[in-house]
Order: sequence, then structure tokens, then C-alpha cells
Amino acid sequence: ARTSSKPAIFLPHLIASLEQVDQTYIMVKPDGVQRGLVGEIISRFEKKGFKLTGLKLFQCSKELAEEHYKDLKQKSFFPKLIDYITSGPVVCMAWEGVGVVASARKLIGATDPLQAEPGTIRGDLAVQTGRNVVHGSDSPENGKREIALWFKEGEVCEWTPVQAPWLRE
Ligand code: ADP
Repeated sequence: ARTSSKPAIFLPHLIASLEQVDQTYIMVKPDGVQRGLVGEIISRFEKKGFKLTGLKLFQCSKELAEEHYKDLKQKSFFPKLIDYITSGPVVCMAWEGVGVVASARKLIGATDPLQAEPGTIRGDLAVQTGRNVVHGSDSPENGKREIALWFKEGEVCEWTPVQAPWLRE
């Protein structure tokens, strides 16, 4: 039982202000756009409570796709992956929040949609690794790198959603 309400009121705010806010790059891949899943995918992150800071429909070049996936350059599927990502427009998104990188990866689910848990985006909406509808950064560092790669200056907005105090105490 609490004897004083003061620490209980002030401590969480102090802790919250010390928690690191991260950014992640989420992308609806060309299959997700063609299949009409853009709204559904945006909605998962919106409902969860993360903040959208960047959004655009975009046809990317081969060079940009290769830079984005440069860590996979040695993989046998790399050429197929670049063809896939450049095969039509993608929807580029920047999302912000405490723990957003790891949480978004959980919402997205395993790389192979057949292994992805039901309830995840890939688990619910896809059947094959080569058509797994969505991308999410795998670390806060890559989140920053990928947002800088896909968005120009001025395309990412800083804003405070009115619901902020209803999402985090
Ligand atoms: P994730 O997108 O889950 O972070 P990876 O970084 O390992 O997964 O791979 C990037 C993307 O490359 C995958 O989302 C998928 O589109 C594609 N990919 C990965 N492995 C394969 C594979 N074995 N065959 C075809 N495409 C693949």
C-alpha cells in the first residue's frame, strides 16, 4: 500500500523521459501494394500506438534497392530480391516510439510467412518468403540508416499526437 502518492506520480514520468525513442523504417513491398494491403498494414502499427512520421508511395530504383539490402549482396536470392522490390511501387513509412524497432518486428512476424505466427502481418497475410509483403528495420541503427536512405529532408514530420498521454503514462 502506498503511503504517499508523490513518488508514484513523478517517478514514472522521470523514467519515461529517460527511455529512448527509436525510429524504424517500415515498407509495404510491391506485393502488398498490388494486393491492396496498404491500409491493413498501416493500421496494425497505427492501432498499436506508434507514431507515423513519414509516408509515401514510391517507385524505387535498382540502385536504392541494392543499397537498402547491401548486407544481403552475397546471398543467392539477392538478384531476385532486387527484382521483387523494384517490380512496382512500395509504401515507405517512418514510425517512432519507445521500443518501436523490436515491437514492429514482432508485429511483422518471421521472414518465412509459413513460420510466422497467426496474428502477425506475415502470419495473417502471406505464404512465401519471396512475397512477404512488408519490411521492418532490424535495429535502431538500421532504422535511422534506412529512413535517411528512403526519405528526403523535409519528408519526415515531427509532431505530437493528441492521444500521447493516453498511450504512455
Ligand atoms: P527480414 O525481411 O525478415 O528482415 P532478411 O533480412 O533475412 O529478412 O531478408 C530480407 C528479405 O529478403 C526478406 O524479407 C525476403 O523478402 C527476402 N528473402 C530472404 N530470404 C530469402 C530466400 N531464401 N528466398 C527469397 N527471398 C528471401
